[in-house]
Amino acid sequence: AFDFKSCLKKNWLLIATIVSVLLGIGLGVLVREYASLSQLHKYYFGFPGELLMRMLKLVILPLIISSMITGVAALDSEISGRIGLRAVVYYLSTTVIAVILGIVLVMTIKPGVSQSADSIDRTGSTPDVSTVDAMLDLVRNMFPENLVQACFQQYKTKRKEIEADKSVGNATTIMPATAVMTTVPQENKTKDFKVVGLYSDGTNVLGLIVFCLVFGLVIGQMGERGRVLVEFFDALNEATMKIVQIIMCYMPVGILFLIAAKIIEVEDWDIFRKLGLYMVTVLSGLAIHSMVCLPVIYFAFVRKNPFKFAWGMVQALVTALMISSSSATLPVTFRCAEENNRIDKRITRFVLPVGATINMDGTALYEAVAAIFIAQLNDYTLDVGQIVTISITATAASIGAAGVPNAGLVTMVIVLTAVGLPANDVTLIVAVDWLLDRFRTMINVLGDAYGAGIVQKLSKKELERMDLTSDVDVVNPF
Ligand code: ASP
Repeated sequence: AFDFKSCLKKNWLLIATIVSVLLGIGLGVLVREYASLSQLHKYYFGFPGELLMRMLKLVILPLIISSMITGVAALDSEISGRIGLRAVVYYLSTTVIAVILGIVLVMTIKPGVSQSADSIDRTGSTPDVSTVDAMLDLVRNMFPENLVQACFQQYKTKRKEIEADKSVGNATTIMPATAVMTTVPQENKTKDFKVVGLYSDGTNVLGLIVFCLVFGLVIGQMGERGRVLVEFFDALNEATMKIVQIIMCYMPVGILFLIAAKIIEVEDWDIFRKLGLYMVTVLSGLAIHSMVCLPVIYFAFVRKNPFKFAWGMVQALVTALMISSSSATLPVTFRCAEENNRIDKRITRFVLPVGATINMDGTALYEAVAAIFIAQLNDYTLDVGQIVTISITATAASIGAAGVPNAGLVTMVIVLTAVGLPANDVTLIVAVDWLLDRFRTMINVLGDAYGAGIVQKLSKKELERMDLTSDVDVVNPF
């Protein structure tokens, strides 16, 4: 029989989170309608939400470091190599599927064909960010020259950095602080800007991951001498997860204010009408990918109900939807995967942090759709070669995007310049990005989770051989 009380007890956090999303939307709409808040008041209003973001970001660093190191150290190098390979094959193939799906949809729906680019505010002038620069940055990021610095700042394209510095006097940023496009206002019109370079002030997670991977492998091989370190990071991991548990209690409050503040803040709702079809294309692509493609792939390998699995992740999915950052959602993703879906820690510790950084199906799909949409707006006909270029660069751009809000919008420039489209046309879609970002982040997180489930299944033998395998059954959250 259905036991309402125990269901409530077990799922109180999820229920509270969903209630707070609804309350937040309601509160946002009410305040928007009936109170005219000044800029300053809007800022105060979002404060509890800001605190939640800060707390989540706070634990990313110890979490990634401790989970990666212990994850790799716990496996012998041969096994971790095999698990790593499986994960990478999964990441790449699902990303490519997402890109293809996006291209098919945008070519069928043609959201940009009936409009011209000028009917939507086109602002600024063409930037000078080359695809090569951006690609080199991706690789450069894997090898941070300074480990401590990598915890603070992502590498910036050197050439652009130099150029941007020259204009520092009037440079402004229009993106959220985590993924910024450095811009220079044109002729004092505040809305006009020129994209000068690609910046991200987040942590260089990719660089840290590469280092932790090697470090974990090395201490894992060191035998007795390495044990102290492994145990240290193991304890660090446990402590961090306990802190995550505390933060999650605050989550409903933070989320309520995050969403309410966003609704109050958005100025241009009208743009949604203009870009409606484009948004429908992206959202339906994300829906198909998450409700058809990924579940089918999961089922093909694991032979278990994929929707039950997705339900186990729902707390993480709602979090991703609310905060638009795979990295900041990571603590919650870990908890859901390990506790609800019973995925082996040795798998999650490895597959989830790497996935949050490089596996972004939602972002890849979005990049492909957006690039072709912009081509359609400009009456620009793409040949087959260019479409292939878009698929490849969209995949690269999704790998290169950090797991922070709007990162995909910034790496969009790689795709646009690769096929000769005006990179500054990302400004055409900036206005709706805050919404699309949430949904694609949700799909990014879901993709990582399914990946962990699949890799666990494929690695069952190895894990069993290590004689430590935990229960692989998916538990029903009810
Ligand atoms: N916000 C996304 C994420 O964290 C990245 C993106 O902008 O597409 O996964």
